[in-house]
Amino acid sequence: MAPPGPGLLPFRHLYVHIPFCRHKCGYCDFNAYAGMEGLMPAYEAALEQELEQARRRWPFAPLHTVYIGGGTPSLYPPPLAARLLGHLARTFELEPGAEVTLEANPASTDPERLQTWRAGGVNRLSLGVQGFDRRALGVLERRTDGELAVTALAMARAAGFDDVNLDLIYGVPFQDIRSWEETMHRALALGPEHLSCYCLTFEPRTLLWRRLQQGRLPEVTSDQQWELLEVTCRLLADAGYERYEVSNWARMGHRSRHNLAYWECRPVYGAGAGAHSYATDGERAWRWWNVARPREYLAAVASGDPEDGGEVLEPEQARAERVMLGLRCASGVEAPAGFERRLEELAGSGLVVRKGQRWAPTRRGLDLHNQIALAVL
Ligand code: SF4
Repeated sequence: MAPPGPGLLPFRHLYVHIPFCRHKCGYCDFNAYAGMEGLMPAYEAALEQELEQARRRWPFAPLHTVYIGGGTPSLYPPPLAARLLGHLARTFELEPGAEVTLEANPASTDPERLQTWRAGGVNRLSLGVQGFDRRALGVLERRTDGELAVTALAMARAAGFDDVNLDLIYGVPFQDIRSWEETMHRALALGPEHLSCYCLTFEPRTLLWRRLQQGRLPEVTSDQQWELLEVTCRLLADAGYERYEVSNWARMGHRSRHNLAYWECRPVYGAGAGAHSYATDGERAWRWWNVARPREYLAAVASGDPEDGGEVLEPEQARAERVMLGLRCASGVEAPAGFERRLEELAGSGLVVRKGQRWAPTRRGLDLHNQIALAVL
């Protein structure tokens, strides 16, 4: 349920969803579709219409971050990508130095596309590498390989990208410590500014989940996941990366400002199929989401409102969420009144620590953030 307009804090963060993929990966439960590339021009037109409607309807301040995610935004043909970026620049004011990220798959990254993104104002690239080990990539049903990732990064550097994230996944069936260490070493050799390392989750109804249910894949135990996380933390700390969030590491000055907006519960407008928006007046908060399926999204935009559902967070609930999400970040959160007892208990379990006016997760708290979430919400 979208909020009433007056009294809202302005949006300074914009997310744009491109739902197209060449192939649906076996572990993926994102709002992403293969075989719909023919819809791209109509989708772009609908996206532009939604952005214009949003610009008129909601308060926007000059944007601090823009994030074009998916799906696979790099699949957009260069003329369409140029059109989207041009439209964003005409419709919204950007703060000087705004962070503009685009998610790219190494298999659809080439010099022409990179040039188009740079010229259109993209200054941060997030490469969905996921791994370098053929077996793990095969289990994930990723149609890419380590060599493509190396080439994509070299091309990105040549095109002038000096702020690059690599996404990696650990805890993949058949992956052992040695193969993960090898993956980490290969990723670090590329010198990215930022790394997101996620533990694989088996989301219900994905291909991977069905295989696990059918006993065709070995379980990854929590001990194995724990060991892999240990290796990740050690190698990244040794290489000079700061773990600034549960699953994110960065070199100095390269934290993802867009993702920080989510963890700090700042208003983010989400445009495109299935995109989520979050707004607040400083007390209550509203979250709503668009129609997910691309064709239905086109029809919904044409009828004037792409919203599919939403919820209101009353002040107490909005505050709890702010504390829970804030404690995903190493910098922690300034906890509002009413949370002292829960935070003291978490401190007693060694999960958080008080730092002046703030509460921050310990290393154990970052590793076991789900326990913090359970206690706070
Ligand atoms: S490329 Fe990304 S969004 Fe697309 S199917 Fe694979 S994991 Fe999902």
